[in-house]
Amino acid sequence: MNKQFFIKTFGCQMNVADSERISVLLTEQGMTLASCPENAQVIIINGCTVREKAVHKAISTLGEFQFLKETKDPTLKPWIGIGGCVGQLDKKKLFKKAPYLDFVFGTDTIDHLPEILHRVKSGERHVVYADFDPSMNYSTETKVYGDQAQAFVNIMKGCDKYCTYCIVPYTRGKEKSRTIDEVLDDIARLVELGVREVTLLGQNVNSFGKGNANTKNREPGELQNIIGKVGPRAGEENFPQLLRAMDEDPRLKDLKRIRFTSSHPLDFSDELIQCYAPLDQGGISKLARHLHLPVQSGSNAVLKKMGRHHQIETYISQMDRLRQLSPEVGLSTDLIVGFPSETEEDFKQTLALLDRIQFDNIYAFAYSERPGTRASQLEDTVSESQKKERLQTVLKYQLAIAEKRYASRIGKVMEVLVEGEAKNQRMMDSSLSVNDKDWHKVWTGKTTCHRVVNFIWTSPRNILGKLINVKIIGATGLALQGQVVNEELR
Ligand code: SF4
Repeated sequence: MNKQFFIKTFGCQMNVADSERISVLLTEQGMTLASCPENAQVIIINGCTVREKAVHKAISTLGEFQFLKETKDPTLKPWIGIGGCVGQLDKKKLFKKAPYLDFVFGTDTIDHLPEILHRVKSGERHVVYADFDPSMNYSTETKVYGDQAQAFVNIMKGCDKYCTYCIVPYTRGKEKSRTIDEVLDDIARLVELGVREVTLLGQNVNSFGKGNANTKNREPGELQNIIGKVGPRAGEENFPQLLRAMDEDPRLKDLKRIRFTSSHPLDFSDELIQCYAPLDQGGISKLARHLHLPVQSGSNAVLKKMGRHHQIETYISQMDRLRQLSPEVGLSTDLIVGFPSETEEDFKQTLALLDRIQFDNIYAFAYSERPGTRASQLEDTVSESQKKERLQTVLKYQLAIAEKRYASRIGKVMEVLVEGEAKNQRMMDSSLSVNDKDWHKVWTGKTTCHRVVNFIWTSPRNILGKLINVKIIGATGLALQGQVVNEELR
């Protein structure tokens, strides 16, 4: 039997992490990653449902693989499956859209893939594993390939917020968190394997810990949410406690940075803001000075319709407080433009918010209706052309802000955690080029505030996962160009 698999991933970092997990699971079954779908025995689409376009992409990609099923030689026919939020939501309905599909799995059933493939191999057709795990416990072990400096670590899953436009609570289920002890053991193992930066993942990582009783070693931390007590209550584990435990665990001494995504402003507590403080004021040394905090709109009227339960004034005060404690913090956010009822005035308030906060980066999308959500019942008052226009406007507006913010870094020395060789081996400034020595390469990494920095390294030493000081000599709105200050690696 051909023992290769091919995965196509759509969507957010949760899906990227899930695909990584699928890859490792199949590798453990003796399979290898195929370079193209034509070579694979197993083809998997890991689909996203967050926007209509993403669903269409997943289904049309499925269609592109149909011809591979038409071969007369049964031993060459691949088994095709679809998973992720698309599988979770549409389950067996997907066989109507794509009868040639062999299996469907959901976000909670990834670990059943070996079983699913066994059933398909035994001749079963249309196998579905897309039920939620009904237990409240969430336990898992992060799977990574050996040689990587970074890893995504799922710490919680699901979402209880039910924003009116969002399908995620229906595709990822109710919030469940791993325990602090389990996460620490998991990361200690990753650090032993060479991981130096972890990104803690979940739909709302800052509501981590709901329902997990504090272990006897940790005193309950009081949650001081600015708006309401939506996150974990006193007596339960919470996210700042996890960060502090990671900072203090001696097994994690070689871990250099902790990042996390994504978060909700309702759970962005004072206790969490304090983790960004300077070290002598109780800040956490390993916590990257970057925050991705989705705001979605600059208008309170629109936020209310979105069911976000936070207000712009609160968001601004959270960001002000954060910048007071950590002036160099990098900020990014998500925005939806053209939500039903959004007026020109509402949209202007979103642009005003960009001016006020000065984000380093935004992820902006035009609203697209998701069937089954509460927002799909609202009258869509913004035309498609207005949505497109607002999207272009907001992106252009932000690019100008980002260019200024990135350019302000020129001349500074910044600490970069090296992530690997850059895909593009040309530097922005063509006067600097990689010469013909094999080991002269453009490398890439990120600053603590999440800015991408490319630089030339002219030594044969492998610098993957190392911290290095780089002087910034060029900038665009997307990346910085640096020059290595000295060869000291940490
Ligand atoms: S917080 Fe809102 S937007 Fe984020 S996953 Fe939950 S329901 Fe969706």
